[in-house]
Amino acid sequence: MTAEIISVGTELLMGNILNTNARYISQKLCDLGINCFFQTTVGDNHDRLVQAVDIALSRADILILTGGLGPTADDLTKETVADAFGRTMRNDPVSEAYIRARFASSGREMTPNNLKQAMFPEGAIIMPNPNGTAPGCIVEDGEKAAILLPGPPHEMVPMFDTSVMPYLEKKSGHMLYSHVVRVYGIGESAAEYRLKDLMAQQTNPTIAPYALSGEMKLRVTARCKDAAEGELLMAPVLREIKKTLGDAVYSVNDQELHEVCASLLKEHRRTLAVAESCTGGMIASKLVSVPGISEWLTEGLVTYSNESKMRRLGVKRETLDAFGAVSEETAREMAEGVRLSSGSDIGIATTGVAGPGGGTPRHPVGLVYIALASQTGTYVRKLQLSGSRERIRNAAALQALDMLRRYFLGNLQIG
Ligand code: AMP
Ligand code: MG
Repeated sequence: MTAEIISVGTELLMGNILNTNARYISQKLCDLGINCFFQTTVGDNHDRLVQAVDIALSRADILILTGGLGPTADDLTKETVADAFGRTMRNDPVSEAYIRARFASSGREMTPNNLKQAMFPEGAIIMPNPNGTAPGCIVEDGEKAAILLPGPPHEMVPMFDTSVMPYLEKKSGHMLYSHVVRVYGIGESAAEYRLKDLMAQQTNPTIAPYALSGEMKLRVTARCKDAAEGELLMAPVLREIKKTLGDAVYSVNDQELHEVCASLLKEHRRTLAVAESCTGGMIASKLVSVPGISEWLTEGLVTYSNESKMRRLGVKRETLDAFGAVSEETAREMAEGVRLSSGSDIGIATTGVAGPGGGTPRHPVGLVYIALASQTGTYVRKLQLSGSRERIRNAAALQALDMLRRYFLGNLQIG
């Protein structure tokens, strides 16, 4: 089965916007094993669009068009495809009601041209658009089909995932089944290096690495007939990844580090308090995004000044004088202090130089200490991070969460 993508929009030809839709669709077609040999970009011009559609229809089974479904006169994709398939345009009452309701609920006036968005080539399958006014549609003719999608990516992508994927899966007799493996503590290049043989051997499922800020994920995608077959194909590969990367793998179902930490606190029935200096509340904020965390996260303090570290956490003045605010000793007293004063099982603290200014030879930008105080002792990690202030702060927050995760795994060194 072959497909072609036609991106409609003069703004694409003029370089005003990047054609992210074509890229997104290409990736999905590739994953599905549907060949795509041509992509066309054409302006909002009837004759040239007819030409593009005719050429694509002569060599591909499926045409996927994006853009030009809107209410204005230059939106002519549906009409052009209707011509190419010899169909007349018909009003779809369900879509009309939806468009009217959408305008009514937002209190905007609906001008008559908006009803153009409820007109479709006769016999088309209509795809709802919960993120915009223009529904999409699929026009079928024997073995051939044209799939029409809206231009704005925030409308196109959900419609593609919800309506087009199942259609293409059915048509091609294949579906995609994925797991997202999340990895922390091994850089992307090191992880790729360790996995390179596995990645090279693997054709189904495939393994695709993605770098995130400070961590990485691997998308493992199987092409299969159904989910059960997908799981079967997936299992040995997931096992091999876990064996190769060890504890660095923290989830195989796209759970984030803070979600994993929240589950661990719940599972072990442990309460946590955090005292943050350089991360300024980021650890607490990530944890608070998990529903139900109030039972396990008792409090989060942003103790930024030395004064606050002393008053709120009981850090000793002598410690600050002797070692400085960014030191192992201060981090340790902060974590122990917040644990004790909050009456929690675990206390976590961060202190560091986030930059860009304020670095000294003894305390360079990116120097961060993270401490975790618990019943069994206090653990301190010294990090030398790099990058912008935001990057350093985010990396420090992730490291703190990873420390908590490793504490529960039982592989933190007392330090
Ligand atoms: P349209 O549906 O053609 O009126 O497109 C509406 C908007 O969607 C355009 O102004 C762009 O911002 C965006 N858009 C259209 N086509 C694409 C594309 N191929 N890739 C990314 N964005 C697009
Ligand atoms: Mg347009």
